Amino acid sequence: MSKFKIVPLGGLGKVTQNMFLYIYENEILIVDCGIGFPDEYMPGVDTLIPDTRYLHEQLKEGKKLVGIAITHGHEDHMGALPYILPELEEIPPIWASSLTVGFIQKKLQDQKLKIAIDTFEDHQKVSFGQYFKVMSLAVTHSVPDTKHLVIDTPEGVIYHGSDFKLDEHPLDGVKTDLEMMETLGKQGILLAMIDCLRSEQLEHTPSETTVGPELEKLMRHTKGKFIVTLMSSHIHRIQQIVNAAEKMGRKVVFIGRSVEQNVQITSNLKKLHLPKDLMIDKRDINKHKDNKLCVVIAGSQGQEGSSLIRAVFGEHRQVQILPDDKVVFSANVIPGNEIAYYRAINELAGNGVNVIYPDVNPLLHQSGHASAAEQRTVAKLLHPKYLMPIGGEDRHRAKFREYVAQSLGYTKDKVITPKIGEILGFTNGEVRIVDSIDIRPRTVDGLGIGDVGPIVLSDRRSMGQSGMIVLIIPRRKGQLDLKKIEVISKGFVFMKEAEEVIRFIETETAGIIKSLGKNKTDQDIREALEHKLGRKLYKVIRREPMIIPVILDI
Ligand SMILES: [Zn+2]
Repeated sequence: MSKFKIVPLGGLGKVTQNMFLYIYENEILIVDCGIGFPDEYMPGVDTLIPDTRYLHEQLKEGKKLVGIAITHGHEDHMGALPYILPELEEIPPIWASSLTVGFIQKKLQDQKLKIAIDTFEDHQKVSFGQYFKVMSLAVTHSVPDTKHLVIDTPEGVIYHGSDFKLDEHPLDGVKTDLEMMETLGKQGILLAMIDCLRSEQLEHTPSETTVGPELEKLMRHTKGKFIVTLMSSHIHRIQQIVNAAEKMGRKVVFIGRSVEQNVQITSNLKKLHLPKDLMIDKRDINKHKDNKLCVVIAGSQGQEGSSLIRAVFGEHRQVQILPDDKVVFSANVIPGNEIAYYRAINELAGNGVNVIYPDVNPLLHQSGHASAAEQRTVAKLLHPKYLMPIGGEDRHRAKFREYVAQSLGYTKDKVITPKIGEILGFTNGEVRIVDSIDIRPRTVDGLGIGDVGPIVLSDRRSMGQSGMIVLIIPRRKGQLDLKKIEVISKGFVFMKEAEEVIRFIETETAGIIKSLGKNKTDQDIREALEHKLGRKLYKVIRREPMIIPVILDI
């Protein structure tokens, strides 16, 4: 039995929901606690959170949670804390960099949670329980104050290298700490986990500071308002927009809850510099000429209800988009969001607005992740015994193996790529997959955690794809009136043109009820109709609408 295990609860195979348990004997340390983003097969689900059943089992068996360390302020690394923390009997010490603490505290406040979080200094070793010592080092990424963690355990040193890039010219001057990586590599690392999301790209990811001049150029040639949307945590991008606006003599207005909040948090922490007279309140937007305005607005993925979408469809109180304005998407579409993202762009283009996005101008966005070349540099400096690509899908892990691990001479058995649920065990300096647990996505859809199971999701899918049929079966004085069955459909077939299908449903409904005989309950009727009628309809029309039988006493 291995005394030391690492249990990834997310962050593998699928990119999001990063959460790793480090378990040594009876102590557990958590690294990251992020949310996931649902795919198109989960209609109506807002958020996915990590499956923590295994963690709770371990705690019930007497293990102790000694700490939680967070690498950076992105949702997929810290966004699940407001859901996971209230489930714990005892809150352990929580640890993050100062900006990350600011972002987390805002999320906790929204949920009315008061929990203390410690900040740390780089290169300072902090003990968690008896077995873990954690140290952070600076890396560049698309949110400031991002860290990699070095975790000392009695079994050896683990390097937790989540999201990063090697930006030679970062806006805040804080470069990835290659010097410390080299020192660590010389001291000896047992396992290094490395962000592999961009391992398909061989060329060095360009610096974030290449985006600013491009935005400035576009701003210079804008007749009306310059409206730009971006990921709201991308503080260095916001800083470059502010700098360009100052140069061009445009006032800056921030619109959208997430952008406004993040700007406030980061400027309070002096991580964002806002010249005093440059900012205006969104309610004063009409007091300024359009060609003197730069609007930074939330909603870069075209999210329903976001400020950008309300402005695009003419429903925003403060922002009207006019033909002389220029709308710039300074963000790539995240896979899964294509429909909403391009719907917004199409609407603007259709209205004759000049809209510019990375498909037509790739310089409007640079990734916050390292390419294979940069991953290789880091792996070489760290020089660990084992490598483990994290934060990517299977195709990214495959390319990591090829471009990074193999090219540095790592053999297959020295590159660990566990499947979701597989547990790493460490014994005498060797790492193996020692066990496997069942991991299921947990959903949050605005009402609460875990209230949307597979059945609800399959209901939503069938409604979305094939519509819904309500069967109203009248009952007079205890007798079902099978001649007066009424069929109401929504999103299924257009009623007037579907007389035939409706007649078919009425006849089949009556037939199915008759076949149940005399001693049937209402429940029997409902179940029989849901199953049998569904199957018959599928045979005839190749669609499976949701069927809702209603027995109506009149
Ligand atoms: Zn990130």
